[in-house]
Amino acid sequence: MHPFVHDVPASRVVFGPGRRAEVPAEVARLGATSVLLVAGDDLPVGDEIADALGRVLTRRFTEVVMHVPVEVAARAVEEARSAAVDAVVAVGGGSAIGTAKAIAKESGLPIVAVPTTYAGSEMTPIWGLTENRRKTTGRDPRVLPKVVIYDPELTLTLPASLSADSGMNALAHLVEGLYAPDVSPLAMLTAQEGVRALASGLPKVARNPADLAGRSEVTYGAWLAGWTLGTTSMGIHHKICHTLGGTYDLPHAPTHSAVIPYAAAGNSTYAPAAVAALEAAFRAAGREVDHAAGALWDLRHEIGATEALADVGFSPEDVRPAARIVVDGRPVNPRPVDLAVAEAVIEAARLGHRPSTDLI
Ligand code: NAD
Repeated sequence: MHPFVHDVPASRVVFGPGRRAEVPAEVARLGATSVLLVAGDDLPVGDEIADALGRVLTRRFTEVVMHVPVEVAARAVEEARSAAVDAVVAVGGGSAIGTAKAIAKESGLPIVAVPTTYAGSEMTPIWGLTENRRKTTGRDPRVLPKVVIYDPELTLTLPASLSADSGMNALAHLVEGLYAPDVSPLAMLTAQEGVRALASGLPKVARNPADLAGRSEVTYGAWLAGWTLGTTSMGIHHKICHTLGGTYDLPHAPTHSAVIPYAAAGNSTYAPAAVAALEAAFRAAGREVDHAAGALWDLRHEIGATEALADVGFSPEDVRPAARIVVDGRPVNPRPVDLAVAEAVIEAARLGHRPSTDLI
């Protein structure tokens, strides 16, 4: 048993099909009487929640942009200020929740989050903003949503490809949590259970996106993944994805899907406990495992998630400059990250072949 610190900010989690109907009650429970709703106008459930909120809804902010550009954040903060609301309800994926967090960061307003993807932002005190093609993130307990309502029915409309990529995004939080230097014994168990749930549920969703039991299993895994992301320090994988999203404008979930098997492979000999936990979790989900990185690749392949950075427009000449940004960001990672390591992981992710137990 090695020493640890377990320091987890609390949030209330309401889970189950149909439970989006409880948004007004949860808002009332916070004592809020005037709400700003953050929900893009492409999501029909935004209208449904707006109707349910009725007179408590003061204003709706629909300008939801991935990686939250600072100009958009400033407009969202101004909307909340001028409408004098006392709570924010965010409905959507990580982009909508990230916009609500930008408001909370400035105002301290409480957030009720209703996630519709598996990205996990709703469970973390992490905010992210993008300015001049550089993404900055930080931790602030004020941005952690006070209440999270997980309604697996909301993910039924998530297209199959985005379901697969978003599921791999959740898996990436769990993989990096398992080998994080600050993972507590409880977080280790939680992350392992999250991997099991995703490895079991994602193939069901891939076979039948309308399978509510499979959707529930994946939503459950995504909750555990978001919690893991919020309670541990992420390593080389997240630093690479953050760089590729912020500087190269690559899409969030597909990028995570493309990179994670290679981050795991690169770390495998440096993180034996994480590798053992991952392999056990895949086996508990009934999957065949030769090694952890290979099992991640097999799952990704089976569910039809994004397999190569080349497929999302990343060019070979960008590998080295991106690797340099990653190294400069000094990721906390089991394997020390120098230019050769960062380049090896990014190049392998660009190509997308099944990894061996170690990359370089
Ligand atoms: P997203 O929120 O940008 O959504 C992707 C697309 O899917 C959008 O067009 C959205 O309208 C659509 N969509 C969402 N839910 C849907 C549904 N149920 N049915 C149909 N369409 C739906 O993507 P994301 O991957 O959820 O979030 C990515 C963003 O979140 C990135 O900016 C990332 O950095 C951030 N993020 C932050 C944290 C954190 O802890 N701060 C964690 C994870 C992700």
